[in-house]
Amino acid sequence: MGKASDWLREERRKTLGDWVAICLGCGFVQRYFESWEAELPSVCPQCAGKMRARCPECDARFSSAFAVDCEGCGGPLRPAELFGVRVRKPGN
Ligand SMILES: [Zn+2]
Ligand SMILES: [Zn+2]
Repeated sequence: MGKASDWLREERRKTLGDWVAICLGCGFVQRYFESWEAELPSVCPQCAGKMRARCPECDARFSSAFAVDCEGCGGPLRPAELFGVRVRKPGN
């Protein structure tokens, strides 16, 4: 029943918020409502990393906790270091 799952998803959205902020350090996700945006923590409650609630390029909000690219401009929302091992070579 597609209808039931739609209803569930809508309930979840209403309970937890329409938008997401993502920790750039550990990937922690905080859902929020538009009216709460001013009260969003600027640092992650888990790792004290930087929380990102908007695209750095176009200022669009994120609606998916799994967003990797901006829905508005297609720019990257998270640093590449989260996805791969970007090891800095020791200068020897
Ligand atoms: Zn974090
Ligand atoms: Zn963007």
